[in-house]
Amino acid sequence: MKTVTLDVRKPSESILGIGCCGAYCKTCKEFQNDRCHGCKIGYADGKRDIKKARCKIKVCCINKGFNSCADCEIYNTCDIIQDFYSKKSYKYKKYEEATLFIRKNGYTKFLAIAKGWKNQYGKYGIKTDQFT
Ligand code: SF4
Ligand code: SF4
Repeated sequence: MKTVTLDVRKPSESILGIGCCGAYCKTCKEFQNDRCHGCKIGYADGKRDIKKARCKIKVCCINKGFNSCADCEIYNTCDIIQDFYSKKSYKYKKYEEATLFIRKNGYTKFLAIAKGWKNQYGKYGIKTDQFT
């Protein structure tokens, strides 16, 4: 799958607002006000060091050059991401939904939907069987 260079924060619908796991950082005020770099900003230009990152999803995803785990060929069998998605909280299911949606429909369609969200996840307005 094609990847996009991680180089800009703007435009606001940038793919950089999507966390490697599918969490949508862009809706967060801290991110919007440059008080937080979110999941991915700063690694491509050396402002952040991926060796210091603690999230193993992010470390793996960035080191592979992906925009998110949605790009990964072993997504379905990867213990790192699948264990994360199997945690008991609604938000993890929603992050999984994001990467499933991206795998099926691409980043552009995801961003078009996510720009209407208020949180790090939201509704898609489509049936869940359209995710797989
Ligand atoms: S949990 Fe990890 S991969 Fe997901 S947004 Fe946070 S740092 Fe990124
Ligand atoms: S799915 Fe697993 S192996 Fe693939 S980038 Fe994400 S964490 Fe890494």
